[in-house]
Amino acid sequence: MTQVRDAFQTLDYGPAPESHELAAEWLHSGERVFAHYIGGRWTDGDGTVHQTRCPGDGQLLGSFRYGTDEDVDQAVAAAAEALPEWQALGGHARSRHLYRLARQIQKRSRLFAVVESLDNGKAIREARDLDIPLAARHFYHHAGWAQLAATEFPGYEPVGVVGQIIPWNFPLLMLAWKVAPALAAGNTVVLKPAECTPLSALLFAEVARETGLPPGVLNIVTGDGATGAALTRHDGVAKIAFTGSTDVGREIRRATAGTGRHLSLELGGKSPFVVFESADLDAAVEGIVDGVWLNQGQVCCAGSRLLVQESVEQEMLDRLRARMERIRVGHPLDKSIDMGAIVDATQKERIEGFLAAGTEDGATIWQPDAAVPEDGFFLPPTLCTGAPASSTIVTDEIFGPVLVSLTFRTPAEAVALANDTRYGLAASIWTEDLSLALDVAPAIKAGTVWVNCTNLFDAASGFGGYRESGFGREGGREGMWEYLKPVAGSRREAAAAPTAEAADVAREPSTGSLPRPAPEQLAGSAPEELPPSATGGRDAPSDPIDRTRKLWIGGRQKRPDGGYSIPQLDARGTPCGEVPRGNRKDVRNAVEAAAKARGPWGATTGHLRAQILYFLAENLAVRADEFAATLSRVTGVSEAAASAEAHAAVQAVFTFAAWADKYDGQVHSTPFRNVTFAMNEPVGTVAIRSGDAAPVAGTIASVAAALSQGNVAVVVASERFPLPALDLVQVLETSDIPPGTVNVLSGIHDEVFPTLAAHDDVDQLWDFVADDLSGRAEGLSAGNLKRVWVDREGAINWLALSDLATGMLLRKGTRVKNIWVPYGV
Ligand code: NDP
Repeated sequence: MTQVRDAFQTLDYGPAPESHELAAEWLHSGERVFAHYIGGRWTDGDGTVHQTRCPGDGQLLGSFRYGTDEDVDQAVAAAAEALPEWQALGGHARSRHLYRLARQIQKRSRLFAVVESLDNGKAIREARDLDIPLAARHFYHHAGWAQLAATEFPGYEPVGVVGQIIPWNFPLLMLAWKVAPALAAGNTVVLKPAECTPLSALLFAEVARETGLPPGVLNIVTGDGATGAALTRHDGVAKIAFTGSTDVGREIRRATAGTGRHLSLELGGKSPFVVFESADLDAAVEGIVDGVWLNQGQVCCAGSRLLVQESVEQEMLDRLRARMERIRVGHPLDKSIDMGAIVDATQKERIEGFLAAGTEDGATIWQPDAAVPEDGFFLPPTLCTGAPASSTIVTDEIFGPVLVSLTFRTPAEAVALANDTRYGLAASIWTEDLSLALDVAPAIKAGTVWVNCTNLFDAASGFGGYRESGFGREGGREGMWEYLKPVAGSRREAAAAPTAEAADVAREPSTGSLPRPAPEQLAGSAPEELPPSATGGRDAPSDPIDRTRKLWIGGRQKRPDGGYSIPQLDARGTPCGEVPRGNRKDVRNAVEAAAKARGPWGATTGHLRAQILYFLAENLAVRADEFAATLSRVTGVSEAAASAEAHAAVQAVFTFAAWADKYDGQVHSTPFRNVTFAMNEPVGTVAIRSGDAAPVAGTIASVAAALSQGNVAVVVASERFPLPALDLVQVLETSDIPPGTVNVLSGIHDEVFPTLAAHDDVDQLWDFVADDLSGRAEGLSAGNLKRVWVDREGAINWLALSDLATGMLLRKGTRVKNIWVPYGV
């Protein structure tokens, strides 16, 4: 007779399928053919029809159309038409729409979960407990931001029609991450879901229609990459918000360059999962299960690089293998499985390709014995050990259930390995020694760091990357900025009374005869071709302005590499000095000097940076009249206007000195056993292209803003009026600014700025000129996907720096790292 105890020991899981009846009804048992949701109604669409099937068993779920250029056109037109009324509704009414959407997602959560599981192949348990509740949470949270937008983001307005492109791994959740903040801020949307997983977006469109979301506010155009590309190219789109692979992100960066379209990119990752010997190893093993095998590892922030301290490696891997033996892989609708199916055959082959390459590179691939279903696209959890650091299995995003294990000896080595990647999306740190965790968290270059937890997401906390994982944040206050722009005209308002004269002059600096050198002079002259009085180093003692300036690189005045200089004329057309004509080599030297200074300056306290900037401001104040005189002479503005600018420059430096130790982060209250510290971190090396409007104030204020937040700067002086910026070097030199922290270049922008834009060791571009070169620079920035800010809206009036402009400069000078730390019970 079987004893109860024996029965328990031999118990096995049986299938526990979730019913798919509701979904079958909605999908007309696979017969339904969807078109696009445009202007509040379903269009016919005439693009090719494509089928979508369940990757778990191949069953036909439904058909949809590939959106054509015309479909995209119609959708953008509908969104543009809906925009004025949607904005006129105001925050409160918009918030009620968002609440309604949130409630409807909750009410129909079972249908959403089943549709999502079937379409993507993910375990129903995950769709039901993670994807759908989080999607609803995003709409609730952002309903709140809609209500508060006017008071919390004064001086800002929605960007307009937003094109959104999402991937297939969390279809509804990615939609929620994008649509909720966009609508909350007052934008209208055209969204393209991924080709493999269009269904939950189409269901959401249906829900939006039923809840009475005004026509045109949300438009869904299904299709493939070509449909996405048509949306990215569309002139009617004011912003593209993209989540997907780094390669496509790069393409989109290039495609939008020079269009003035706002852009945020949420891209791939190869996130480190760091386990110290002081970790609770069992907890870390469970963390890995969540971190790597959630959604079959098809998670952008999957902790797919296990970095384990050498002393516990063996034990950790033994426990991990034992746990992996118990992971159940099965049909997505089975409630008792841990892992479902890979999204499609192509993705499965891609993952297998990585495993084959890893094996070839000498790695050991281990998979548990437990069977995986033969029909459908299934793969078991996989552990890879012994791979050389250069193997693609270690360096590239696999986007599958594959964990690669490496070891380290010391915390410093752990940090070095964690950062040894071109990505920077997320990291997990496991140790019971909280001091160690909090020591390591700031050192890892990633947008999110989880301490003793992993893959936690919440609408209150921003999510996004460093480096080639993209830029911009989704979620929380930081995510709202992505859908807002300064109110048009705020610049003019801010430029009111006290410095009106200066502002007027700055807008029209070239009235009368233009002190611009003739083209042949701009082309530069080698020192030997010039008369002695015009060559480097020979100052004219009677007039300090009349001498050859030098570049400032690594804390030293340097002659330009090419030996060429550009003669300068003052406003009356009289020669008044020469400026170096920097070239690519000078740029490279400046970036190298900045890179050396970046770590130490970034590690200084706000208190110290404030002191140094106050000192700079004081030194500048002492020489304000001198700068005003130069300014007046070279630009031709009145003495009063020049004096106003010089004093505005001093004010600005004091302002950023004041902010150096005050631009705090936030603590987000995320609804788990955590608090989430949103830390403002420096971006790194900022390349600044100064404009002609305010050659003194613009240059020094932008530098001070960057420095105040721990960045280092390479500044390209105004092309037309470079002398004052080069004179600022004397003030910088005497203000305790460490060598390399600021570097000043001059010359022809076309010759130096592209090199900065393309340089892999520049982390951000600030372009205050906004011309054709700005667009080219945006395209060139795609290499390392650096952040680019072109002030096309003219948001910054350097002559009367508004609070809005100050806030914008501080925000552009930082990026938010969200650190999740266990807290409370
Ligand atoms: P892809 O980059 O291939 O596709 C993403 C989306 O872009 C899809 O809708 C795709 O359409 C569309 N697309 C493809 N080519 C173009 C183009 N030239 N122009 C415009 N749109 C285009 O990524 P996957 O769908 O394969 O998703 C996986 C990637 O997404 C991974 O790298 C992952 O890390 C990343 N990801 C990042 C997240 C983050 O927050 N950082 C979150 C989730 C995923 P179609 O599907 O029809 O080809």
